[in-house]
Amino acid sequence: MAITSLGILGGGQLGSLLSSAAKKLNIESVIYTNDKDSPAKNYSDQFIYGKFDDENKINEFLDKVDLVTFEFENIPINTLNYLSKKKDVKPKPEVNKIVQNRLSEKIFINSNKIKTTDYCEVKELSNLLNNEKLIPGILKTCTMGYDGKGQIRLNNLNNIQNLKIDFTKNYILEKIIDLKKEISIVLTRFGKDDFQIYEPIENIHKNQILRYSKIPANINDEIKSQAKTWASLIAEKLDHIGTLCVEFFIDKNNNLYVNEIAPRVHNSGHLTINAYNVSQFENHIRAVCGLEKLKLKKINDAEMTNIIGKDILEYRNKIFSKNEFFFDYLKKEVKENRKMGHLTKIKY
Ligand code: ADP
Ligand code: MG
Repeated sequence: MAITSLGILGGGQLGSLLSSAAKKLNIESVIYTNDKDSPAKNYSDQFIYGKFDDENKINEFLDKVDLVTFEFENIPINTLNYLSKKKDVKPKPEVNKIVQNRLSEKIFINSNKIKTTDYCEVKELSNLLNNEKLIPGILKTCTMGYDGKGQIRLNNLNNIQNLKIDFTKNYILEKIIDLKKEISIVLTRFGKDDFQIYEPIENIHKNQILRYSKIPANINDEIKSQAKTWASLIAEKLDHIGTLCVEFFIDKNNNLYVNEIAPRVHNSGHLTINAYNVSQFENHIRAVCGLEKLKLKKINDAEMTNIIGKDILEYRNKIFSKNEFFFDYLKKEVKENRKMGHLTKIKY
């Protein structure tokens, strides 16, 4: 059955850009979000605001769509299971189950003989005190973290009691890597052993928030090929359908580690809109809706800068040259450390 109406869970910048890509493919987008001010309202064909456990609202959403996908992985698993009983959900909820939790995510990655940072599970203070070897480290909540939220850097364990860590939540403690570089691989999986892989993207973070991405990444061929192999193995083992991103660390000795998996389109892949013939968003929609897979072709090298907080005000009045592409997410409220838009520059 041809998909004419695509349901998207989540209404942020990624949902907005997915909606725009759907429009280009003549597919109607229906956003479901628990944030009534979310920006995808400006880009989607239909917009439903409701809590993820509001069965009536969810049913209303289901009635309008042929298929469900999502822009972020942290949707309650019960909601995803409920949806998938009524309509296809792609990627499937089992993918979210693994990736929603940093601990099960790391166990999954390591079980495929792929390297991650050293880490331990933290349920109580003694788990920290017994893992001095992971210091300096970062304590991360197992669930719901993004843009560095839910993370505490621990340079030593002195005065650890004073930090008043909330042990009603579960954490992992990760050893800090002496970073040389961060890269990501964005790919779209259409089916068994059927991939399109974008070239590695080099990323710069500031205060744990992505600031800047570029292609080509300045890395050697060995790392390039290892990163692609690991990212496709991860997508294959998850039996993921659609676009997926794997974030990597490279340390000062050129060791490669998987940092985390985003089973969805990703901020570092925004430059694919202008640098490739098919963007990560369009490819996601093509894969989940069973549309034709076009031959992927890079048109230009590119770099992307995230516009954070009140910087957006200045960009809104700027005049851009013809190799610059400004995206305003039209978020209602300007907040410090909030991603408000981005600028992609292509290089001729
Ligand atoms: P989020 O889910 O918030 O993106 P990440 O685990 O990707 O969380 O952390 C955000 C950023 O913080 C990373 O991209 C990296 O710059 C830095 N960071 C996180 N963990 C480590 C680590 N173990 N060693 C060095 N830097 C880290
Ligand atoms: Mg990250």
